[in-house]
Amino acid sequence: MNWLKREWKTVPVWSMWLAAAVSGAIWILMMLLFAGPLLSSGGVPVPMVALYGLLAGLFALLPATYVLTIGYVNADARRRGMRSGVWTAIAALIPNAVGILLYFLFREPLPVACPRCASPADQRLRFCPQCGQTLGPQCAACGRPTEISWSNCGHCGAKLARRDLTAA
Ligand SMILES: [Zn+2]
Ligand SMILES: [Zn+2]
Repeated sequence: MNWLKREWKTVPVWSMWLAAAVSGAIWILMMLLFAGPLLSSGGVPVPMVALYGLLAGLFALLPATYVLTIGYVNADARRRGMRSGVWTAIAALIPNAVGILLYFLFREPLPVACPRCASPADQRLRFCPQCGQTLGPQCAACGRPTEISWSNCGHCGAKLARRDLTAA
């Protein structure tokens, strides 16, 4: 569950506050509308009203997870260099979580930091768009980028040693 801990750090604080406010408001509303009248009528035993309060609290948590997910989409789209405003709107406005599903289907891979100039680069790129540094492994013989799965260089045919595969 380490990935969950890591991704949780991406969830912006504003969405946590919003989620808490939405849940709290729904819970208070449900208590005012139903629990209050039930208690004052006197016909319903207090433990039943308390149970209702608990269930209402659980129900009120559902919209909170929705708000948190939309907050996550907003921050995650930004760090992936995607249009976060558009994706936040899609995630929030298309009903039944279809917008959220679309986001996870179409999101771009996380950018990698260029080892030379540290600017974020699309991880599918072979060279840094800012400074031209090779991103990922390269062949020791010809200096061209290689794939992790190659045992021979696809450009010059040289045998790739283990250290060539990991060298940047
Ligand atoms: Zn660079
Ligand atoms: Zn080569």
